[in-house]
Amino acid sequence: MTGPWLPGLQVRRTEYGQTPVADYLCGACLHHERVVGRREVEDFVIAGPTTEHRDNCPATQQGVQAA
Ligand SMILES: [Zn+2]
Repeated sequence: MTGPWLPGLQVRRTEYGQTPVADYLCGACLHHERVVGRREVEDFVIAGPTTEHRDNCPATQQGVQAA
């Protein structure tokens, strides 16, 4: 539907009803999260999915496990 996403957090609005949509894509493991709704997006951005996911990223943890 859309072109390839860049890794990281992106917030945009849908055409209908001006509903904010936040997409988070991890460049390492290609984990994708989508949050829809004004309140949900606000919380999502404040929570910092980039920082939060980095701790749980399977691609990152593979290196950590060996240590
Ligand atoms: Zn990841």
